Amino acid sequence: MRTIAVWPLDGPPPENVPAEFHAPCARVGRDLRHLPAGDRLPAGVRWELSEEGYSGFLLGLGTARGPLFTRETDPYLPPGLLTAYIAEQVQDHLTGYEFVQWPACPGHTHPMAPAPAGTRGWWHCRRSGRPLARIGDLAATP
Ligand SMILES: [Zn+2]
Repeated sequence: MRTIAVWPLDGPPPENVPAEFHAPCARVGRDLRHLPAGDRLPAGVRWELSEEGYSGFLLGLGTARGPLFTRETDPYLPPGLLTAYIAEQVQDHLTGYEFVQWPACPGHTHPMAPAPAGTRGWWHCRRSGRPLARIGDLAATP
């Protein structure tokens, strides 16, 4: 596995990161500012992109101590699907390994679910299926 780049959660990636990853990662990274009260990400967490001969791009989160998770990620998926996929991988990691329920669904105890709607993806309520916020716009959630 060869590391291509590491960059801040809501910062611009280096130039050698395929352009298709830029906006989806920035949007998910922006939404990671909105963790439930009292929950924190591991110190120094950042995006990590690497590649492996047979599987293509591997995208995930890591710290200077090593990767937290990494998943094969196809940058040529439609943008809404790519954004929702990245959000889902981050959410799965936070739920399963950091015990963080992110992002909180307003008025409910479950986290919102990412869905590949539109060109950017949306956060939906898991119970009603109602779209609540575009991925990257969690601050605008009432
Ligand atoms: Zn809900």
